[in-house]
Amino acid sequence: MLVYPPEGHETDSKRIFVLGSANSSCLINDSNIRLERNGNFCKLIQLKLGENKIQINIDGKSFTRTIYAIPNANNNPNPIAYARPYQAFNTANSEYKNHKTIKPSTQGAINKLASSKNILRSILVSNSDISIPLNSLPDYTLEKINAYHYKLDLGIIEQDLDWIHYSDLNPEIKIEKISDTIFDIKFQKPVINHKIKFKNQVLNISFTFKEVSLRNLLVCIDPGHGGSQFGAISPKGIFEKDLNLSLAIKLASELNQRGIKTILTRDNDAELSLSERIKISKKNKCGLFISLHHNALPDARDPNKESGFSCHYFHEHSFDLANFISLKLKASSKQDFAGIYKQNLHVLRENPDTLSVLIELGYLIHPLESDLLCKKSFQTKTARILAKALLEFGRS
Ligand SMILES: [Zn+2]
Repeated sequence: MLVYPPEGHETDSKRIFVLGSANSSCLINDSNIRLERNGNFCKLIQLKLGENKIQINIDGKSFTRTIYAIPNANNNPNPIAYARPYQAFNTANSEYKNHKTIKPSTQGAINKLASSKNILRSILVSNSDISIPLNSLPDYTLEKINAYHYKLDLGIIEQDLDWIHYSDLNPEIKIEKISDTIFDIKFQKPVINHKIKFKNQVLNISFTFKEVSLRNLLVCIDPGHGGSQFGAISPKGIFEKDLNLSLAIKLASELNQRGIKTILTRDNDAELSLSERIKISKKNKCGLFISLHHNALPDARDPNKESGFSCHYFHEHSFDLANFISLKLKASSKQDFAGIYKQNLHVLRENPDTLSVLIELGYLIHPLESDLLCKKSFQTKTARILAKALLEFGRS
């Protein structure tokens, strides 16, 4: 069978891959195409601008595919090899909502005058506290961006700051200077509370964290795609949406057996928008979100040359989880490791109060890897590795 490209496909790529499987033979434009031992084939062919008629013969049956190569007018990404029209992830930048700005109640003219004498010389960071020695209380604001990210604006302080001192080797708090008076404060654990005091000429902000233990977290498992969004497609015609769902159900069961509560964004072939998926996670106050996918490539790339699993995150507080899962998969899988990526993906970006990762378990369009990904035994093993990894991460 031929699974890609579909008839009448339009692309601004100069090349396209022809993907499918055969019992005994495959010819493309009259030349013999090598079949893998599992019968799968994938051949990258050149396109000329305009109409391209590709002659295909699979197991003695001939047919034509018409592909339209259009000029690359802008730098839009090529469509991914999805079975149905590719639905682009919504990458529009949307502002975070629910910002809270906390201002000290004592601010005013007196402090503004006094703070002009303030010179910021050091910031001392311990695991849960930030201490800033100052002459007087400045006209500052502490803004909550999300549970893992605050912004501190110290107002009109003069600065002579070379160092931010950390009293612990692995502080829960990391500070980044983004302007003369503004600092990004990032946390490894979600903040539930903070207290501010100014005493003995030290501005002290102490944070209380929520303990991230899987025992008290609800895990949201998100099988990608569904309904008419088939996702990627294997050379034998298996849809990504179905693999994502069966793996998600296996992962939920592995976690439940270990006493971890889970919720699935879909437990059948339902079609959900990306924002609906996030809504489910938020409504149920899930502390961990894991989206499961199987990978594909844009038209111009060669599926024979790319394989392996990859882990994706967006907010920095989710990097450790992405890294941990990668290490565990690497240790127990024979697959290639395609890397950890910071990705501006809707389901990662729009769920900032949650540890959120998206895992691509391998390339469904790779002639050999696809058969592995479709095996029930592979899915069972992968679900077990992921469950164990999450459990171990929750304990560390
Ligand atoms: Zn996908």
